Amino acid sequence: MTELQPPSSAIWVDVVVTTPAHSGLGDSLTYRSERPLTPGALVRVPLGTRETLGIVWTLRDEPPAGLDPAQTRSVGATLDAIPPLNERWRELVAFAARYYQRALGEVALSALPPALRDLQTEQLARRLKKLAASAPPPSGTDNPPPAPSPDQEQALETLRATIQPVLLFGTTGSGKTEVYLRAAERLLRDDPHAQVLVMVPEINLTPQLEARFRDRFAAHGVVSLHSGLTPAQRLKHWLTAHLGQARIVLGTRMAIFASLPRLRLIVVDEEHDPSYKSQEGARYSARDLAVYRARLESGHTPCQVLLGSATPSLESWHAAEQGRYLRLAMPGRIGGGALPRLRLVDMNHQPRHTVIAPALVQAMVERAARGEQSLVLLNRRGYAPVLACHDCGWKSDCPHCSAHAVFHKIDRTLRCHHCGHTTRVPRACPECGNLDITPLGRGTEQIEEQLAGLLADARRPDGQPVRVARLDADTTRTKGSLESRLADMHAGEVDVLVGTQMVAKGHDFRRITLVASINTDGGLFASDYRAPERLFALLMQAAGRAGRDAAFVAEQGSSVELWVQTWYPQHPLFAALARHDYPAFAAQQLEERAAAQMPPYGHQALVRAEARTQEAAQAWLTLASQAGDGLPGRNHLTLYPPVPTTIQRVANVERAQMLLESPSRPALQAFLAAWQPVLQALRTRPETRGLIRWAIDVDPLSI
Ligand code: ADP
Ligand code: ZN
Ligand code: ZN
Repeated sequence: MTELQPPSSAIWVDVVVTTPAHSGLGDSLTYRSERPLTPGALVRVPLGTRETLGIVWTLRDEPPAGLDPAQTRSVGATLDAIPPLNERWRELVAFAARYYQRALGEVALSALPPALRDLQTEQLARRLKKLAASAPPPSGTDNPPPAPSPDQEQALETLRATIQPVLLFGTTGSGKTEVYLRAAERLLRDDPHAQVLVMVPEINLTPQLEARFRDRFAAHGVVSLHSGLTPAQRLKHWLTAHLGQARIVLGTRMAIFASLPRLRLIVVDEEHDPSYKSQEGARYSARDLAVYRARLESGHTPCQVLLGSATPSLESWHAAEQGRYLRLAMPGRIGGGALPRLRLVDMNHQPRHTVIAPALVQAMVERAARGEQSLVLLNRRGYAPVLACHDCGWKSDCPHCSAHAVFHKIDRTLRCHHCGHTTRVPRACPECGNLDITPLGRGTEQIEEQLAGLLADARRPDGQPVRVARLDADTTRTKGSLESRLADMHAGEVDVLVGTQMVAKGHDFRRITLVASINTDGGLFASDYRAPERLFALLMQAAGRAGRDAAFVAEQGSSVELWVQTWYPQHPLFAALARHDYPAFAAQQLEERAAAQMPPYGHQALVRAEARTQEAAQAWLTLASQAGDGLPGRNHLTLYPPVPTTIQRVANVERAQMLLESPSRPALQAFLAAWQPVLQALRTRPETRGLIRWAIDVDPLSI
């Protein structure tokens, strides 16, 4: 016992708070408390001149060495109306922080609803009281659920018998959602406290899915968690999940961090979707964390993870091949409908300047006349990617980015899709005064306009003109516009829907018999090695919107088709696509990846640096690279030279990146852990002046 010992009633606690990134303050701060506290408790603590929300992480028997107890501040109020965050939750965020190289406080606190940060204890108590007293949820409609198909039965049987992660490889329209619903239903019945987390890529795009869950589980409390909620809604939903009142949480990637004390099942729908990977802050993969979390929870009570897709990520596919995941196949569509037949349109044999092949237009005309719908996919919004002057070569570049500003005809603006910079279209070329400046390339806006022209004489069965609509980020900006556009499509108000990849995702449109991809080739030759995987998935998903109602197709006597316009019809990707053969495509891609030691065979991290000048960004990366010499794991790593990012300048900030690769994930992790503090220390070096920020992206999705 030393005389520095606090009064006998006081204890020491390490509290995790949000500290500025790279502040070097460490993961937690030590406080004293006159009251007993539990790990996971939410507390208010002084930090500098303000008070902030913190999470009690560990209790200490004595203050850490070097800490002056007299200088140690005391914990403020405890939010003791809220039960502490349990150990598994704390382990999950600690793992995510470690793995993705971010501060624990940043990851842990940003996993909580922001409204919790400013809430006083009394306000919180009032909210909780209201929650407890809130009326029982309305009951669902009386639609009885469909009897499961044999494939679905089989999948459910297997699910029941395994504790392994399961990859549900089910064709589009095979009824994967029904499997999720049934699995959840069974669990809720068997365990009166069990909770289920269902993750979807983008909740607004699939209001149908949410409706199906609400309908089926009305009595069990279904809440959603996503960035579209108001702070008050998000707090309420979070609390009901944390208190165990909500049995089903439906959310986007952020929901992986929801506190669910009785979590027994995690579903990741469309697990291949890139939006599961965060592109800011801690760049976590919610899919990968789902697998990790299920294992963590299983140390307590069995928790299953179910990844579903018609085009799984190559990572998950590979894991299934290796036997780490259990693969369940549902190859047939509900109702026995066929997948669309591929019709490759060889653009080399079309009339000059063809945008949409005449045969494709004709096919749409015929379908509209029979009351069927068509979907046209184009991966570029706006009217044209760039405006150009043919006299002097001027192009509508964004003044702040190394990118073109996109021409939007509808309001005659040039908009940069990277920084948002918007200007009016000039009346003449700003360089030479030529009045004839013209759009180059095409976006969804132009395709919509052209289709409307090409289909002007076409008629619907009721004799009315064919209606063309567009679905992209521009037409869905205002609140409710996405929902109303989707509703129009479902109601048959629209005959031809043009859009970006948004149109391909998850929708259960019932009357589509034709899907067309207008401008496909970009994805075939992009420098990004994941581009073919993404293109294949996109085309398969888009194709999956067609022919979903087998009875309708049969009644119509129609054929279901996927039209793909390409200059490279011989490309092997199309051969696999024609057979809807994802396994063959995956095998071929995995072979290439294995040969090049790329993911999932090799492991990558990317360091990105942003600076006032490209030289400064690269200079910092070079320093960083040198500073890595001799660190643990370094011998098993390749550090590539710094290069400018694909879009080098955004909003007047220059960006560069450096790739790290290793055949060993542990070696890469060990290196990053040792490197991180070294990089922070580099900030003080004079050579790094001009550096604005840097960040590490572990398992980057695009390089
Ligand atoms: P996926 O998610 O695999 O694309 P869905 O779960 O959306 O497929 O199912 C496709 C369609 O089939 C939906 O309209 C759904 O309501 C319907 N469906 C699913 N399972 C059954 C079943 N067992 N019996 C009848 N209809 C079903
Ligand atoms: Zn000019
Ligand atoms: Zn810009």
